[in-house]
Amino acid sequence: RPHLHLQIQISLFGEDDRLIVVKDVTRLFQLEQMRRDFVSNVSHEMRTPLTVISGYLETMVDNSDDLPARWQKALRTMAQQSSRMEALITDLLLLSKLETGEHHGAEVVVNVEAMCRQICQDARALSGEARHEFQLDIAERHFLRGDQDQLRSAFSNLVFNAVKYTPAGGKIFVSWYTNREGAHLSVKDTGIGIDPIHIPRLTERFYRADPSRHKETGGTGLGLAIVKHVLLNHDGKLEILSRIGDGSEFICHFPRERLAEPETLPASATE
Ligand code: ADP
Repeated sequence: RPHLHLQIQISLFGEDDRLIVVKDVTRLFQLEQMRRDFVSNVSHEMRTPLTVISGYLETMVDNSDDLPARWQKALRTMAQQSSRMEALITDLLLLSKLETGEHHGAEVVVNVEAMCRQICQDARALSGEARHEFQLDIAERHFLRGDQDQLRSAFSNLVFNAVKYTPAGGKIFVSWYTNREGAHLSVKDTGIGIDPIHIPRLTERFYRADPSRHKETGGTGLGLAIVKHVLLNHDGKLEILSRIGDGSEFICHFPRERLAEPETLPASATE
């Protein structure tokens, strides 16, 4: 066997007695590895045919003026659904790379303020007619050391979720602050909120507080799982505060060691 994985549990009894349990979890590790490989392979294999189908469907939608209305509608639905499937595959691939640590790009000093401004701008487009109000509160000049692409996908998942789960006209606050414990990025909304019983499970793949809503919101069900893994890769953790009807707050906590001064950054790291 190339690798043996052991789980060791030591329990203390009284002054000197110890119980040591050694468990061979190699098989469990292998199964987990197989699951990851399988998901990653299937996603890879599905990506190319799906890109072709989506491409043709878009062309057909663009040239469907002469077709009867019901065919036009059918084509539009097919195009929408195939782009949803593309988004799902992109997220599945990203998640499996994050899990294996394969996605680790070079660490740079990330300008969180510039990144969040850009994300809010994109989120405004997503909000569209709903006209959410965005408030950015980023006074700190501190930057964060990490993988730029990973952090961008984590923060944008949180801001886009805030848009998706906040009714029209609601507010979305993005703030970045540091204190003795470290650095914190908070994304807060005045949206529908989450029942506390769901909170501990929200970062599981495909877990949804309200499964009937996901068709409207168009999410992949993997957003918060991605956020959790990005934070794990950055020694951080996610805190979720929410009450039904009052809105939600998602806070990414990073340790102080992740903070960096802008002067130390390589030239390519600013946005
Ligand atoms: P989805 O694609 O379903 O949005 P996510 O992993 O991003 O998947 O989120 C998981 C679930 O967490 C969502 O289905 C929703 O129930 C809940 N959720 C996430 N963000 C918010 C938010 N800002 N307000 C209310 N509920 C949220």
